Amino acid sequence: MAQPTDTNPTEGVLYIVSTPIGNLEDITLRALRTLKEVDLIAAEDTRHTRRLLVHYEIDTPTTSYFEGNQIQKGERLVARLKTGESIALVSDAGTPTISDPGYRLLIQCIDADIAIIPIPGPSACIAAASIAGLPLHNFVFEGFLSPKSGRRKRQLAELSEEKRTLIFYESPHRIVVFLQDVLDVFGDRQVSVARELTKKFEEVLRGTVTEAIQKFQETSPRGEFTIVIEGFLSRKE
Ligand code: SAM
Repeated sequence: MAQPTDTNPTEGVLYIVSTPIGNLEDITLRALRTLKEVDLIAAEDTRHTRRLLVHYEIDTPTTSYFEGNQIQKGERLVARLKTGESIALVSDAGTPTISDPGYRLLIQCIDADIAIIPIPGPSACIAAASIAGLPLHNFVFEGFLSPKSGRRKRQLAELSEEKRTLIFYESPHRIVVFLQDVLDVFGDRQVSVARELTKKFEEVLRGTVTEAIQKFQETSPRGEFTIVIEGFLSRKE
């Protein structure tokens, strides 16, 4: 596989490979080639990644790399990289390390002087931001806030005067309480709630936080959600 000229040829490369967030067509040619050519794919959930690999007729061996085994597994992956093998890290969807496992492996590879190459592609955060209709010259990606309301409200309070557009991930069963906390702490701002992007039931709700709460109280929220919220005073400037 082609490598940058500064890569030590006796050592392998860790590729951070973005995969689809729903629609299997959302994968780059380079990602497919990398997944085919590496010696090993380290996947958050090997059964989940298997569907993608079967779809593209890729038979590269897989191994699991997830929150619970990342320390010991990371050491084993680094040892293999040191022998010259190349490894692709993938998560269940989107870009590994973005609210997903991978950070520790990166640190272990950086410490071991192993080359790391990104294979960019989908991320729910960027996909949701790109269609939100809110200012995006800069923005703040917060990922998941705490599942506990008290802590979540404190986290929101720390962001209440943030002028940049804010992006959050949230699970379907907490979306209403999350939006209620947003209303309490931020007031009734503009919001864009993106559901099931790139999938069959893709839907985007743009409006006020109150309107979003109303909608999700009427129809029980299902699927995956990314929430984009206008920054403090963003419309008044
Ligand atoms: N690393 C992934 C990425 O780059 O998109 C994010 C992983 S995080 C564990 C998963 C969260 O991303 C979901 O709970 C949801 O908030 C958001 N998400 C993932 N897929 C989505 C989709 N198709 N539509 C909207 N949000 C999505």
